[in-house]
Amino acid sequence: SEQPTTDSHVAILAFPFGSHSPVLLDVTRRLASASPTTLFSFLNTAKSNSSLFLSDLPSNIRVHEVADGVSEGYVLSGRPHEAFELFIVAAPENFRKAVASAESDVGKKVTCLLTDAFFWFASDMAAEMKATWVAFWAAGPNSMTAHLYTDRIRDAIEVDGCMEETLGFIPGMEKYRVKDTPDGVVVGNLDSAFSDTLHRMGLALPRADAVFVTSFEELDPTLTNNLKSEFKRFFSIGPLALLSSTSQTETPVQDPYNSLAWIKKQGTASVAYISFGTVMTPPPGELVAIAEGLESSNVPFVWSLKEKNMVQLPKGFLERTREQGIVVPWVPQVELLKHESTGVYVTHCGWNSMLESVSGGVPMICRPCIGDNGLNGRAVEVIWEIGMMIIGGVFTRDGFVKCLDQVLVQDDGKKMKSNVEKLREQAHQAVSAKGSSVENFKGLLDVVVSTLN
Ligand code: UDP
Repeated sequence: SEQPTTDSHVAILAFPFGSHSPVLLDVTRRLASASPTTLFSFLNTAKSNSSLFLSDLPSNIRVHEVADGVSEGYVLSGRPHEAFELFIVAAPENFRKAVASAESDVGKKVTCLLTDAFFWFASDMAAEMKATWVAFWAAGPNSMTAHLYTDRIRDAIEVDGCMEETLGFIPGMEKYRVKDTPDGVVVGNLDSAFSDTLHRMGLALPRADAVFVTSFEELDPTLTNNLKSEFKRFFSIGPLALLSSTSQTETPVQDPYNSLAWIKKQGTASVAYISFGTVMTPPPGELVAIAEGLESSNVPFVWSLKEKNMVQLPKGFLERTREQGIVVPWVPQVELLKHESTGVYVTHCGWNSMLESVSGGVPMICRPCIGDNGLNGRAVEVIWEIGMMIIGGVFTRDGFVKCLDQVLVQDDGKKMKSNVEKLREQAHQAVSAKGSSVENFKGLLDVVVSTLN
């Protein structure tokens, strides 16, 4: 392909687990088409790259491989976080090598490191290279704040017996409780490689030239303003689900199991869509409770369930519900949530999923699983009032049936629906001409492509 005449060379350092790398690639596509003379080298593990949609990339994006930290012949034991730990320990060295090889490939020094925010070591790396450092936080301002203020929260909180206390000493965190915070801030194993990474990240990010998220400012004005005062620059550029697309900025809709065709045949706001994201699944007993709740409520459903969990469904469930709903391993979630037939989203409250539900104007039933999920679920229920926590904190048949009724039928649900419609409208404004996200994207682009150093 033709060599772009490059002004600047941006190295993108992707985090190869969960939903981080597809979102970062999406943002990279948008930056690359907005600045065709800038070269973007996208550095990611072979495994994560193989899960991405890499055809139709603009010619100024080059995809490279970075080692995954697993030495040859090593067999993963399957311990949780093992792949992450091996990767993160080796990441500084492996990314240095990958950046050097991307530079020699095109004969051009890297002028900007645009990295997943987890990579705190990019601060020193960028300084050594005389490059700028731009960090992508793959979740919302609420969890960003919890990690930024980890030391302050640890100092203020004596963990025993204070799980209900709120974080009112931080602007914008008044309605969040200690028990909503991600593992590794004050609860869980504070010495794990994961907690350590997040802690170091919080300390390093104020040195970044810019930090960005895929949210929109109007969703969390107080948190946003506070982060703007803590970081050199803080940009909210989303929601990506509502940004206009060209063939070069967006992955084509992939619907291998025809869930869109199915949902199109259903009544307005009638369907429960169920998914817990790319990483987590509730334990088998809860999957059974979901299935039983669906059967006894008779609500039409689309359930995105990982192939390996299908055997945990009750015997005969799929046959008995053949007319009522579909269970498939993957759906085009953004499109489903935008479809008028979807009435409620049963979710783990991952940041992307939550924002996609807001973008579609769909109220939620929340069953937080890991990381930022607890904060997001709290915001859904008590700050934005656009959904509810699962009754009892875990799925039971009767609790789930009540929640479905509450959201789809009762007046409470109508209120949630009207609140989420208002947020959707604000999100639309943010991504339309002169909207906050459009202006923020320009600001981000300026920092990324500038050759200040
Ligand atoms: N997703 C999808 N189809 C599915 C399941 C998930 O497109 O069947 C997408 C979803 O739209 C979202 C992402 O996977 O963009 C999940 O990201 P999130 O931040 O919600 O959760 P994580 O997977 O990181 O826990």
